[in-house]
Amino acid sequence: MSSESRRPLVAVAALGGTISMVPGDGEDHAVPRLTAADLLGELGENLEMDVHAETLAGISSASMDFATLVKTLDWAARAVAEGAEGVVVVQGTDTLEETAYFFELTWAFEAPIVITGAMRNPSLPSADGPANLLAALTVAADPRSRGRGSLVAFNDDVHAGRWVRKAHSSHVEAFSSNPAGPLALVSEGLVHYFHPVAARPPALSLVDADFSGLVPIVESGVEDTGELLETLIKAGVKGVVLAANGGGHVSAGTADVIERALPGLPIVVAGRTGAGPTFRGTYGFRGSESDLIAMGVTMAGWLDPRKSRLLLHTLLATGASRERVEAEFRLRGDLT
Ligand code: ASP
Repeated sequence: MSSESRRPLVAVAALGGTISMVPGDGEDHAVPRLTAADLLGELGENLEMDVHAETLAGISSASMDFATLVKTLDWAARAVAEGAEGVVVVQGTDTLEETAYFFELTWAFEAPIVITGAMRNPSLPSADGPANLLAALTVAADPRSRGRGSLVAFNDDVHAGRWVRKAHSSHVEAFSSNPAGPLALVSEGLVHYFHPVAARPPALSLVDADFSGLVPIVESGVEDTGELLETLIKAGVKGVVLAANGGGHVSAGTADVIERALPGLPIVVAGRTGAGPTFRGTYGFRGSESDLIAMGVTMAGWLDPRKSRLLLHTLLATGASRERVEAEFRLRGDLT
């Protein structure tokens, strides 16, 4: 067979989630049961690619952990080294945005890694799993997906792992890339990219893949006394992300706790609105962005608290210093 007519090879890893959940006989509620082979079986015989499928886990994505992410990353890297043109990861939608961002940070290959799942399980009318999986395979096999890093194919949209968020608990259009918008649309089996490939920051390599220190998100809001943050710091957290108000503001009490904790602990301030960047120099009250920056906190820029936690955790697993944490958040959180 000439190389031009060779069918692309795509590797598929199934990790569980609604796409693989059905109730057992006589049961009312869906739990993970289907394997990667079962999911592909639903697509029939007509795929225009070769597929190598493996079931790596069968979990609800609420139970996703870094060990499973690192295992999946290693598996995907091996698949590409062995000749796969693209990789598809199938998992639950609840934490899919975090998996997508973890791969965006750590995926070092030109081949795309495409994540998908489903909102309606296979026992429901209009289950969306097969269409989402087919779209993900199509994106993974498309040469125009190369160099685009981590992608999410869902409801015929293609989102960048850099921006995607789960934005609805039940609609089949559950994902949004607001404000950047999707990267592409899948229609009639073709991927329509809206923009050329953009440069991505270098992949982070984990020097301590077993790093398991606690890196919590602490949300600010009414009655934000700082006590919860102080308790967590005393308990020995390795870093903290504050889901702060507005453009990156906390209460005066929390500002006092942060000042005492710095410079020993990496503290990142992200905006809890989930849209818009953190500020750098608008306000000057106690707990304002300029007060916190003067103390040495790292501002998350456009990264929301969940993505900030993924980035901070991953950086700590690379052994990053406070200075490196600041530099990486500037690189990955700001558009500049
Ligand atoms: N509701 C979830 C899903 O959409 C369950 C999970 O995330 O595992 O797959």
